[in-house]
Amino acid sequence: MRFARIFLLLLCAAFALELAAQSAADDTQLPALNRFQPDQVDKSIAPCADFYKFACGKWQAANPIPADQAAWSVASPLRLWNEMVLRETLEKAGPSNPARSAAEQKVGDYYAACMDEAGIEKTGVKALEAELARISGIKSKADIGGELAQMHQSLPGAWQGNDNQTGAPLFGFSGGQDLDDATLVVVQIDQGGLGMPSRDFYLKDDDRSKQLRAKYEEHVRKMFALAGESEAQARADADAVMAVEADLAKAQMDNVRRRDPKNLNNKMDLAQVKALTPSFDWAAYMAAVKSPATRHYIVSSPEYFRGLETALKEHPLEHWKAYLTWHLLHGSATYLSQGFVEENFDFFARTLAGTKEMLPRWRRCVRAADRDLGEALGEAYVQRAFPPASKERMVKLVHAVEKALGQDIDSLDWMTPETKKQAHVKLQAIEDRIGYPDKFRDYSSVLISSASYLGNVHQATAYEYQRQLEKVGKPVDRSEWLMTPPTINAYYNPQLNTINFPAGILQPPFFDAAQEESVNYGAIGMVIGHEITHGFDDQGRKFDAQGNLKDWWTAKDGEEYEKRGKCISDEYTQEVPEAGPEVKQNGLLTLGEDTADNGGLRIAFMALSNTLKEQGKSVDEPGPDGLTPRQRFFLGYANAWCGNQRPEIMRVIVLTNPHSLPKYRVNNVVSNMPEFQQAFSC
Ligand SMILES: [Zn+2]
Repeated sequence: MRFARIFLLLLCAAFALELAAQSAADDTQLPALNRFQPDQVDKSIAPCADFYKFACGKWQAANPIPADQAAWSVASPLRLWNEMVLRETLEKAGPSNPARSAAEQKVGDYYAACMDEAGIEKTGVKALEAELARISGIKSKADIGGELAQMHQSLPGAWQGNDNQTGAPLFGFSGGQDLDDATLVVVQIDQGGLGMPSRDFYLKDDDRSKQLRAKYEEHVRKMFALAGESEAQARADADAVMAVEADLAKAQMDNVRRRDPKNLNNKMDLAQVKALTPSFDWAAYMAAVKSPATRHYIVSSPEYFRGLETALKEHPLEHWKAYLTWHLLHGSATYLSQGFVEENFDFFARTLAGTKEMLPRWRRCVRAADRDLGEALGEAYVQRAFPPASKERMVKLVHAVEKALGQDIDSLDWMTPETKKQAHVKLQAIEDRIGYPDKFRDYSSVLISSASYLGNVHQATAYEYQRQLEKVGKPVDRSEWLMTPPTINAYYNPQLNTINFPAGILQPPFFDAAQEESVNYGAIGMVIGHEITHGFDDQGRKFDAQGNLKDWWTAKDGEEYEKRGKCISDEYTQEVPEAGPEVKQNGLLTLGEDTADNGGLRIAFMALSNTLKEQGKSVDEPGPDGLTPRQRFFLGYANAWCGNQRPEIMRVIVLTNPHSLPKYRVNNVVSNMPEFQQAFSC
């Protein structure tokens, strides 16, 4: 994993799920964006009883989930809008344009190769012939290291573990900031190795979990058959994959323990790394990926690598060949012919997330281009979608919310002056990043042609893998962004102490230049407050102003903080009937995000009150529509979260995602605020 602890605002897709987006019934006209409409409320519902339903019920009823979506929200038209703008750039840069620049050639040919369904179909499974042969030629377990290096450098995200422990075959291997000294970049080694979203999917024994495992095994078997294996061989190989992945799942650190960065901060030298898993050929792996000299290694979960050693010893070579073949097929599926694309969709989107139909190909190709060459597309997007006036207004909003947090810190009766002083130091040091990076990434060394989609993905992945590793031993690049400009999301980076808002989210319904202050503070102001609060949530508070994992709290203040955190985790440890009877939200998993939601809305409201006061106005003065700014603030907040989700995807989110579902992000937060109770006379 990247140890940079990224605290996403929105529901982040841990694996390739089509989350919020709009049906493409009409994808020739830019869609109308959802904007705040005060008359959208359902007056038959009491706002104090269910504010989410009061604000969103009418929208939910009028906006059923399209067949090609697992979820559908007020942000969905924005996502389509962003993708259509990117498509224009990609099409204009296509092979038929004789005047295109070198940068345009890359994005244009990438997109053209992806859209060439006939060519991809004609090549079929031959696209993987050489790699399949290499795996089948493996003679001993010592060869696994070299093959794994090849896979990590060619399959997108395959080098990167993450909080859901999926992504990377066997493990993740990358460069990242040291936890104790944020000025250092070192090699980090993380657990990985699973095909399903998290270890729970292998270990839970309720009926739905068992049913999903059976379906997954069937999917793995079908993928082997598509690759040309006999029925009997495909069955044996699927069995082997299930057995290996179950053993890896058992060895993994769970997602709640991973939330404490201290649990991940295990420094080792090379001899210690090798001693954890002596049966794995680390020397061959590191030589193949050109691993640079590093001060030390950080191994997120040593117990996982001990478990991997046991698994390497106990499973025969044939199991490991099946495992590697499966991850090659799995990681390549969406770049191959239709049979693979359909089968991959059938399990991961249909069975797991509840989506009925596939997105149109152009949208899948735009998303892949954004992932692989995103900053080459970002400049045109910014010019089109993010005028300087929006940036100016956003800067003002950010400053107002930061100022409000300063006042909030001063007002705490339980925190000593000593800790308050340190909190202010950290707050002052937060760097605001708005819209897009100062300098866009240079992809000139990435070879892209219109001949092979899979080949282009391999090239872009190899570039990204090396770019990450080459950071090791060099000064930290503070200007780098972890999201592309059109991304509808935001993050706080505790190791750089930055808040980051891509241009993609600075659009309606989150930021709306046509709306007055109250609605913008409720929607994007809360997003700003959420990200700033991450610097002070139960994880963020463990990092100092410079991004080092260092305790700057007095012991007593730390205890008082934890007590208040427990109130939040208790409140959010709740039944979530809409996600299925056998799952329950774990408030310890969502504590950081819930803290950010509660703190974020609170300081956004303070910022609104301050702003209106400076203008000689009050939050309780009714406007022409009869609503007060206070009411519009809370309605603007709820409106930004209106959405529908299929039960299948809700279950995955509750089990794996650190964010609460939208209904609870709204209802739990407002129920904790006297400012809200005053707005609606609760
Ligand atoms: Zn967050």
